Amino acid sequence: MAATPTPPADPASESPTSSLPSAAPLGVAVLGSTGSIGTSTLEVIGASQERFRPHLLAAHRSVGALLDQVRLHRPTWVVVTDPQAAAGIGAGAIPAGTRLAVGPEALDDLVRAPEVDRVVSAIVGAAGLRSTWAALDAGKTVALANKETLVMAGPLVMRLAAERGATLLPVDSEHSAIHQALRSGTPDEVTRVILTASGGPFRTRPRESLPDVTPAEALRHPTWSMGPKITIDSATMMNKALELIEARWLFDLPGEKLAVVVHPQSVVHSMVEFADGSVLAQLSPPDMKLPIQYALSHPRRHAGPARRLDFRECLRLDFEPPDPVRFPAIRLGHEAAARGGTCGAVLNAANEEAVGRFLAGEMRFTDIAEVCARVLDGHAYQADPSLDDIRRLDAWARQEVVRWKCA
Ligand code: NAD
Ligand code: MG
Repeated sequence: MAATPTPPADPASESPTSSLPSAAPLGVAVLGSTGSIGTSTLEVIGASQERFRPHLLAAHRSVGALLDQVRLHRPTWVVVTDPQAAAGIGAGAIPAGTRLAVGPEALDDLVRAPEVDRVVSAIVGAAGLRSTWAALDAGKTVALANKETLVMAGPLVMRLAAERGATLLPVDSEHSAIHQALRSGTPDEVTRVILTASGGPFRTRPRESLPDVTPAEALRHPTWSMGPKITIDSATMMNKALELIEARWLFDLPGEKLAVVVHPQSVVHSMVEFADGSVLAQLSPPDMKLPIQYALSHPRRHAGPARRLDFRECLRLDFEPPDPVRFPAIRLGHEAAARGGTCGAVLNAANEEAVGRFLAGEMRFTDIAEVCARVLDGHAYQADPSLDDIRRLDAWARQEVVRWKCA
């Protein structure tokens, strides 16, 4: 079953013992375990060992950090997806009780194992699609941080989940907030979903100086500590564009019901407006451990390591409309969410390539949204693409960014 705006059963009405952990801890596969989401996931798991057990940890190249995690968490499997990086692992580096597998194909197989109850999809970028797809194909419950999966192939992914009886639960904090708020009403009662955005490090920076932004400046996020790619996406506000598309497919919402508001404190993680005008918001400090735990424990809740709001301190919540001139990426997100089809895949690939080039010092900050707009406008749109069409256009969009840079 895919996540929909249908409210799940009220946990409070379930059996009186429903807040207790089940007899056996849930086996969790953490894909991208060495990243920002991956390490927070291991903190959540470590704090609730009676509920969760790390069955599999996977990373690409960060072998040293991965082996540290293996020694601490003792998973049954460790997967290194980059064979070159795996070649450097010496005999005896893996403790007894853990087995090593290498390559993305091995990961696709291992997420399907019966011992895997929940899959945390936290690989960054388009590379996360294949293992998320494999997990859904095997009918697993997937805690989805890798928004790119839905941005690229939302309709196909949601159809697969429905066909295989798999469940997708959001880890992205905005979508987690929306998922929680949607439990208060029925889909036909929802009039608007409002995603909050911190505004990033350049919320107040004048337009004239945006072309001069350096990677170091863009990597300094005011409220969230995240991996480099999503941090740059937050600075351009392309992250919000990707999240609009993610919400479009995850909650089956038409584009016109989706809105963005800038909220610099990152305490209100998103809001849902219902037919009577009531707006429900989810609040908590900016800490990904809460949405991660929500996706692992859903439909139940329990105490965990995430920070809590302290209402004894002054708490100020500001909201302002996003600036479409300084942050043109948001318009691209609205457009891609409304048009659907191949737009998400093309926008995602162009952005991923452009962010890489900006970080390498080969593109200006403002070039990112500009080249994305060009590539999106110039692509051969298809309304109902296959996975092969998506892969082909992903490669095409990346080449276009390279060509644009050289032009
Ligand atoms: P990160 O860069 O910190 O970590 C990425 C992880 O993916 C690492 O473990 C890395 O080894 C692995 N990886 C990279 N390339 C890979 C490949 N080709 N094959 C297999 N594994 C690969 O990234 P992050 O910030 O943790 O973000 C992960 C995902 O979660 C992204 O899709 C991001 O948009 C999403 N997300 C992150 C946050 C956050 O707070 N960091 C919040 C919301 C959503
Ligand atoms: Mg987010």
